[in-house]
Amino acid sequence: MAKILIIEDESSIADNIRFALEQEGFKTVWCSTAAAGSQEIGKGKVDLIVLDVGLPDQDGFSFCRNLRKTHGTPVIFLTARSDEIDKVVGLEIGADDYMVKPFSPRELAARAKAILRRAPLATPGVSQAPFEINEAKYQIHYFGKNLNLSPYEFRLLKVLLERPGRVLSREQLLQLAWEEPEASMDRTVDAHIKSIRSKLKAINEVNDPILTHRGLGYSLKE
Ligand code: CA
Repeated sequence: MAKILIIEDESSIADNIRFALEQEGFKTVWCSTAAAGSQEIGKGKVDLIVLDVGLPDQDGFSFCRNLRKTHGTPVIFLTARSDEIDKVVGLEIGADDYMVKPFSPRELAARAKAILRRAPLATPGVSQAPFEINEAKYQIHYFGKNLNLSPYEFRLLKVLLERPGRVLSREQLLQLAWEEPEASMDRTVDAHIKSIRSKLKAINEVNDPILTHRGLGYSLKE
């Protein structure tokens, strides 16, 4: 069962959202501040976050930007003003969707469902045919054959495999796959992607499962 974290300071809105999400079979946790939300995320196993932009202790945008340094968890923003939408859409804060208040909690539940259908759950042990990940051995098999990846290539491909269809910028890839992202450069991602591609191609020449999005980044073909 997917667990959804709601970070929203207005209890009446949070109650409505919880009710709609639980009706769809989701498990929910409610936090009324950014600080409490961070703590909950730190405990692990959050599959999606419903995030209010106007929180008492931090704005949702900077919260999400910080979150993206360590987590790829999908985020649906709740905004109170329509002039905030431009920010949600325009800034590279890694939002997956947004809703403007007042909104229908049922519509929110439907969108959460759609996002979670695309994103795998936070639970480990991902297997995306024709890929098979062996976490302990740092190995990924492709059509049954070991790709012989370097540790960085392994992490990079794993990040993509865990989020099929999702476009990740070079910066997000660096944050998610590297231990010390500050020391690395965007070009490093390109170089490793190139190397992963040639290894994939050596096993299957026609199928290129990694898509390049000009000016944006990379994603795994769904
Ligand atoms: Ca608020």
